[in-house]
Amino acid sequence: MLLAFVGGSTWRTYGPMSADRRRLAVLEGFAAMFGEQALHPVEYVEHDWTAESWTRGGPTAFHAPGTLTAFGSAIRRPFGRVHWAGTETSTYWSGYMDGAVRAGERVAAEVARHL
Ligand SMILES: Cc1cc2nc3c(=O)[nH]c(=O)nc-3n(C[C@H](O)[C@H](O)[C@H](O)COP(=O)(O)OP(=O)(O)OC[C@H]3O[C@@H](n4cnc5c(N)ncnc54)[C@H](O)[C@@H]3O)c2cc1C
Repeated sequence: MLLAFVGGSTWRTYGPMSADRRRLAVLEGFAAMFGEQALHPVEYVEHDWTAESWTRGGPTAFHAPGTLTAFGSAIRRPFGRVHWAGTETSTYWSGYMDGAVRAGERVAAEVARHL
């Protein structure tokens, strides 16, 4: 299985292309790296993240300047029985899968202490 992101300024070139033209361009890119066989995939799937209504193509959320320094300590503070997980609460690789897993483990441990 091969996967590629077409993001940032590259999307401005590839986004307006027809789906067929973009498919060919992507497969040619794979072929340049992995050989001719990549031009004939068993299946090809693409997803336009810029069309997502909430993320609008952004892979991570970000805070406005000053938010974390002013309010960062509140983001992990439980509110009664509500505990906050999610990658944005992680102190390491916030916004990414690594942060999501760390946040999940932290909250699981927090909740387990109350059982
Ligand atoms: C386009 C894109 C590309 C990315 N690429 C990468 C990458 O290459 N590497 C990487 O590490 N990370 C990448 N990420 C980021 C990564 O996907 C996220 O950091 C991670 O999925 C966050 O996990 P999470 O568990 O914190 O939140 P989510 O995965 O957002 O999970 C939250 C869940 O809560 C559910 N939910 C929301 N509201 C409610 C409610 N009221 N009741 C019940 N359920 C609710 C949602 O449906 C969702 O399933 C990418 C993200 C995007 C959008």
